[in-house]
Amino acid sequence: MILLVEFCEKGGNWAIMKKRECMLYCFKIAILFLLPILCSGCWLWDILFNVDVDDEQLEKTMHIEYDHQVSYDVFFRQEGLDDLEDAFANAGTDVDLWDGGEVIADEIIDYTFADVEAYSRKHRDDTTNYNMHLLGVQAAKNHPTILGVSEGGGGPFSWSFVFVQTIKDHPNVNDEDNMIERVTIHELGHQRANLTEADEHPELHSSSDCVMYRTYSPHAHPQFCSKCQQTIKTVSW
Ligand SMILES: [Zn+2]
Ligand SMILES: [Zn+2]
Repeated sequence: MILLVEFCEKGGNWAIMKKRECMLYCFKIAILFLLPILCSGCWLWDILFNVDVDDEQLEKTMHIEYDHQVSYDVFFRQEGLDDLEDAFANAGTDVDLWDGGEVIADEIIDYTFADVEAYSRKHRDDTTNYNMHLLGVQAAKNHPTILGVSEGGGGPFSWSFVFVQTIKDHPNVNDEDNMIERVTIHELGHQRANLTEADEHPELHSSSDCVMYRTYSPHAHPQFCSKCQQTIKTVSW
């Protein structure tokens, strides 16, 4: 505005402005345009324009190695991967999923902590920095109702199993495709941030719209409640 007044005082005519005045005028205009660009990466800009500094600082990446048995791929459709990425993006976390390329022979694994731990170690590639492990397998021996299991929350070298055939056979599952994807996100919530079972600890969840409920109703886009999102944001690994 000041520059405009200045220019108008000169009759809006470049010709009658002296060379020095003209250069000064151009310099002021240049500063006016450069200042926001120079400030855009600084804290002053963040405060003035209310950028969420905390969220930027908390942005993290989950590095997940993924292996599965021959017929038990949990990412059989793109929307499963999209939903996984969306659910964690809302919790300030990027998903870096590395398909380890390991298609494991069908095998119903024993379901004790030591057995699933050993199974994960057997198939994990320790030479990478993928410190989370996701496995799609058929079922857990003698546990026909267990849909998934996880260990983690403190990383590195943690794991989640999704029991794909068990989900397909489950009498209460009417949309098995959605359910496989929801169980995957639920288990990674356990593995990543020690999220609790919402059915048993509803007081630790801010909404019933949370994938940590085993009774979570069929949902186009499974998500974590705001409390779970906050917990995932603050994990230290
Ligand atoms: Zn669970
Ligand atoms: Zn929750």
